[in-house]
Amino acid sequence: MAASTALSLCPYILSRRPTPRKRLFSCFVGSTTPIGTRRTNVPRRSSGRLDGARKSMEDSVQRKMEQFYEGTAGPPLRVLPIGGLGEIGMNCMLVGNYDRYILIDAGVMFPDYDELGVQKITPDTTFIKKWSHKIEAVVITHGHEDHIGALPWVIPALDPHTPIYASSFTMELIKKRLKENGIFVPSRLKVFKMRKRFTAGPFEIEPLRVTHSIPDCCGLVLRCADGTILHTGDWKIDESPLDGNIFDRQFLEDLSKEGVTLMMSDSTNVLSPGRTTSERVVADALLRHISNAKGRIITTQFASNIHRLGSVKAAADLTGRKLVFVGMSLRTYLDAAWKDGKAPIDPSTLVKAEDIDAYAPKDLIIVTTGSQAEPRAALNLASYGSSHSFKLNKEDVILYSAKVIPGNESRVMKMLNRISEIGSTIVMGRNEGLHTSGHGYRGELEEVLKIVKPQHFLPIHGELVFLKEHELLGKSTGVRHTTVIKNGEMLGVSHLRNRKVLSNGFSSLGKENLQLMYSDGDKAFGTSTELCIDERLRIASDGIIVVSMEILRPQKIDGIIENSLKGKIRITTRCLWLDKGKLLDALHKAAHAALSSCPVNCPLAHMERTVSEVLRKMVRKYSGKRPEVIAIALENPAGVLSDELNEKLSGNSNVGFGIPAVRKVMDGHPKRREPNKIKAENDSNLHIENTSEQNLIVGNDVETFLPEEVTTSSSPDHAERHTRSTEDSDEFWKPFIKSSSPIDNLENDNNGFIPIEEHKSELKSDDATSSGDVSELLSSQLKSSKPAKRNKWTSEEVKKLIKMRGELHSRFQVLKGRMALWEEISASLLADGISRSPVQCKSRWASLVQKYEEIRSEKKSHKDWPYFEEMNKILSDDFEAAAT
Ligand SMILES: [Zn+2]
Ligand SMILES: [Zn+2]
Repeated sequence: MAASTALSLCPYILSRRPTPRKRLFSCFVGSTTPIGTRRTNVPRRSSGRLDGARKSMEDSVQRKMEQFYEGTAGPPLRVLPIGGLGEIGMNCMLVGNYDRYILIDAGVMFPDYDELGVQKITPDTTFIKKWSHKIEAVVITHGHEDHIGALPWVIPALDPHTPIYASSFTMELIKKRLKENGIFVPSRLKVFKMRKRFTAGPFEIEPLRVTHSIPDCCGLVLRCADGTILHTGDWKIDESPLDGNIFDRQFLEDLSKEGVTLMMSDSTNVLSPGRTTSERVVADALLRHISNAKGRIITTQFASNIHRLGSVKAAADLTGRKLVFVGMSLRTYLDAAWKDGKAPIDPSTLVKAEDIDAYAPKDLIIVTTGSQAEPRAALNLASYGSSHSFKLNKEDVILYSAKVIPGNESRVMKMLNRISEIGSTIVMGRNEGLHTSGHGYRGELEEVLKIVKPQHFLPIHGELVFLKEHELLGKSTGVRHTTVIKNGEMLGVSHLRNRKVLSNGFSSLGKENLQLMYSDGDKAFGTSTELCIDERLRIASDGIIVVSMEILRPQKIDGIIENSLKGKIRITTRCLWLDKGKLLDALHKAAHAALSSCPVNCPLAHMERTVSEVLRKMVRKYSGKRPEVIAIALENPAGVLSDELNEKLSGNSNVGFGIPAVRKVMDGHPKRREPNKIKAENDSNLHIENTSEQNLIVGNDVETFLPEEVTTSSSPDHAERHTRSTEDSDEFWKPFIKSSSPIDNLENDNNGFIPIEEHKSELKSDDATSSGDVSELLSSQLKSSKPAKRNKWTSEEVKKLIKMRGELHSRFQVLKGRMALWEEISASLLADGISRSPVQCKSRWASLVQKYEEIRSEKKSHKDWPYFEEMNKILSDDFEAAAT
């Protein structure tokens, strides 16, 4: 469905990146002084537990904040934006009198590519739920998505009886949305009229007519004993609106006399000088272009702009053309207007899309969605020639009656290029007069500020830079108290009797820890963590590797007890460039090497961690990517053993040492193809390309065997390429295991692991010379796996150790789980070709620290010690803290 074309946003809104993932606030009190420290911006780690002075400070802030929030102390009028400030979209604001609140608007924001698979971003419904007992009503200013789009999630977060107020056209849109979501409760929906007062929560509310780019928009005046608030909603001043509902200047003039404590106003176009033009000017331009056109006309505009559609209809009538709508959201808004009794077009008079070809081009206007080149919108599909409804041709005239929303420029330009390629004429641009904004320009904003003359002014609806500029504009018109706040910051305001002059009429009442919520289609809804947004992006851009390892612990075979792990390793990748198979091959080798470096009785989790770390590092070196690696180790003696028996039966000897037998082209063997099985997988191509399996069973003969379970296949051509690439990849692979046998790791490790020495005898199997490069590789490895002995750390190794330990320094401050960190370091070193066990790393670090402390405390010269500078970078703070 073309829902994505239903961008009934205040047409400025957009798909932009809201810097969503790092929004943790701490609390502060007072207008300027932050108290307490900003917590880490990694949410999972912010336990909130603080110690010492910081803890008591945090507690006192909390108490004081609650006092403000909960009690009657402090300023009586309160504003807490949940969304819409410092960003475009997702408008949602709590406005209250002491502890009684109403929620004004509940909009969504649309994600950009950074939030893969996410369709909508909503305000923090968890917070809204937490405060639901204080929220007595929802009041909606108009029907754009950035004002009503989050209702399906916000309403369930509220008390089940909380009423929702809106104007009649807006309410039709809300009803449809709630019905679609199965949360339509008619008794909660209350329609208001302009200038008709009603009571909602602590306020008597009076809606006032404003003009914008969708019908039936209002501003809100909220009155209570403690003052009057004006919330403008989204607005422009259209001097001659097509529906005759003029911007209610008179109301504002009267209100000004009454006195406005706080005004909040739309900042969207504060950077645009002058004034907007009227929708009537656009109507005239449309008529002019439509009258001049000889062939078929195709228009595209925002579907929610019913007045604009009315202008197209009027031009169609005057020129004797019929209208056809292509794009679902056009009907959504027209139907709402029709139900509300104010539609400029009778939906039943529209030509059906399937009848387009029955009309001569000169008799038709095709109204389409897709002004922003949304992927499934009508005009965009037509630009690809893939619309089922119509085909563009050279004679067509496209009237682009919209603006390109910032962020969409590139895809819109590509769409227009495709249309130009077809040869259609495109009419667009400021001079053609085919569009006007629904948000007032600077001149209009200034005029309203001057009419209302509020005591306090708070710019809303816009990026931070717009808000700041609007604040300056407010000051320039003589508003004494202005401020800019962001989402989650609570502001208190008092009505100033006798125009008392205060240094600042606003009080900051604290900040709330808000987070964005994401909707991922029909059901999935939650925080970015819950919807794994970061992970999606990471996997999409860096790929994923799944390693399954069937592990066989040492067995007694033919009277010989073996001393190393065996395993059957299968590697599957997605979204990863495999360099014609070279990388996959290198991954196998590295996985085998990493696995064989594990102590024979280590837990499966250790093997998983070791292998995944090594593979991750390896890919990073290979292609700069950081794939997600999932390693799964299972104890499967039967499976591995049966392969081994097959091996034996096939005549291959097998010494069972933990170095991989490199089966060169297991997945290229034509005889073992199982096309049916592969076909059964719907992503067979991918699967064929990037899954392979190798066994960790060493034979003298690297030709070895084919496994029982052939999970991959490929054409002979692929096999050939793979063979070549296997050879090429050897050079790359070597550093990952070259420095020593992984067994060397274990020489000093007695921390629960069995030291391995007996493997020596089996290492002599370096007569594996029968198979070119791969054999050489093996034999070189075998040679390097000579009996374990205490290796001295090279200077380069020590430097790498210090660097890696330094990178993890903050994590080492936590007492628990340090060994896992040393394992991480050991694995990182292994990926760099340095084979040192976790215990070795730990012990080398301890001696480095000892040396460092000696030099520092005895004020010795450190010139002779090459690691001093690096160590000092990591430890100087600790050292000084300990000394004081
Ligand atoms: Zn808006
Ligand atoms: Zn709007």
